[in-house]
Amino acid sequence: MKVLVIGRGGREHTIIWALNKSPNVEQIYCAPGNAGIAELAECVDINEHNFEELGQFAKKRNIDFVVVGPEDPLFAGIVDYFESIHIPVFGPRKNAAIIEGSKVFTKDLMKKYNIPTATYESFDVYEKALNYLHQQKLPIVIKADGLAAGKGVIVAQTMEEAEAALKDMMLDKVFGEAGNHVVIEEFLQGQEMSILAFVDGEVVRPMVPSQDHKPIFDGDKGPNTGGMGTYSPVPHIPQAVVDEAIETILVPAAKAMVSEGRTFKGILYAGLMITKNGPKTIEFNCRFGDPETQVVLPQLQTDLSDIFLATINGNLKELEINWSEETAVCVVLSSGGYPGSYEKGIPMTGLDQVESSVVFHAGTALKDGQIVTNGGRLVGVTATGANISEARQKAYADVEKIQYDGKHYRTDIAQKALVAQQ
Ligand code: ATP
Repeated sequence: MKVLVIGRGGREHTIIWALNKSPNVEQIYCAPGNAGIAELAECVDINEHNFEELGQFAKKRNIDFVVVGPEDPLFAGIVDYFESIHIPVFGPRKNAAIIEGSKVFTKDLMKKYNIPTATYESFDVYEKALNYLHQQKLPIVIKADGLAAGKGVIVAQTMEEAEAALKDMMLDKVFGEAGNHVVIEEFLQGQEMSILAFVDGEVVRPMVPSQDHKPIFDGDKGPNTGGMGTYSPVPHIPQAVVDEAIETILVPAAKAMVSEGRTFKGILYAGLMITKNGPKTIEFNCRFGDPETQVVLPQLQTDLSDIFLATINGNLKELEINWSEETAVCVVLSSGGYPGSYEKGIPMTGLDQVESSVVFHAGTALKDGQIVTNGGRLVGVTATGANISEARQKAYADVEKIQYDGKHYRTDIAQKALVAQQ
């Protein structure tokens, strides 16, 4: 089979790495890809949003199916486009991708179908929002409805901070239209965990759970990033809690989408807070997480191409999906200055010295035969082991071998799991 993967990050590199293991996949193309992806797939210089050119390419190369990695093309209707030209495609249609694209839609969906989440109200009139805010306890969470490049969520510790966030979003429009509606919601206390699932309508096949590390510095200090590292599974969260999250959150969400005439096919990602009253939903995403994918797919024993095809063809229910008993840890290396401004084009060395891990590339490029930095998050070093401690040691030993000016990474990825296990 010939497969076209759309995207350019560590997530897509991991998807391609997993597809490359399949005896059924003879050729993988990636648009546009990156320097690491180029080792496993033929990279094609077509932008993720250039649907027509992607479609022409897929037709010319007789692509058997397309896999869409990032959310933006999904929001823009890339799946609807490929379906319209009769090319099989893995991912949700535009009307289902809204589960990530609009926080107001998703909060209202959860309220309607009794899916556990933080209590909230949504507003499109500033004065009403301010009035409601003044009646709430602190801390409080303010969220812009639409897309705000990961910056549209403010966890406010003081009323001044909360008022400023509301003003920024609703009056000063710092996130443009995304701030026309806001959600004001209860602050949830607990541990965060992600559960991703392959979903085909009402059929939900969960993957192993994982935990991300969003802030840039050790001890969860500093500004949030796209994710600085992950581990999976999450040994200190009991299986009963994972099962509860699947039964009370993921399965009802998939069913709700069918009932709403927005049948979801693809990856449904639940971002959860494990509170003392059980798991509650923080958000849904409509695609693989980055860097969660880097620790989840290495544990998958079933052929990923079979899962994608079964989902596309409506046969997911019949497929058995198996996971290894191993543990995986991913440490992300980033550019100095990220998530603020940073330089690009800095040579990276030592990638070929990595022995016990897989390096998934995110923001790298090839310049005159040399791998150079080309983004904020650069690579994710992923190792597997019998337990967190072993996987962690392997990953960090390999992280040491990679060098470039401005090198940054967190030294405490998966530490929480180790501490909790002691
Ligand atoms: P992402 O980059 O994860 O897609 P997003 O912009 O969609 O981010 P959310 O995932 O809704 O935003 O929130 C970002 C982060 O803010 C969460 O990972 C969590 O740490 C924190 N957060 C969000 N809602 C709450 C809440 N109700 N209580 C406590 N913390 C919260």
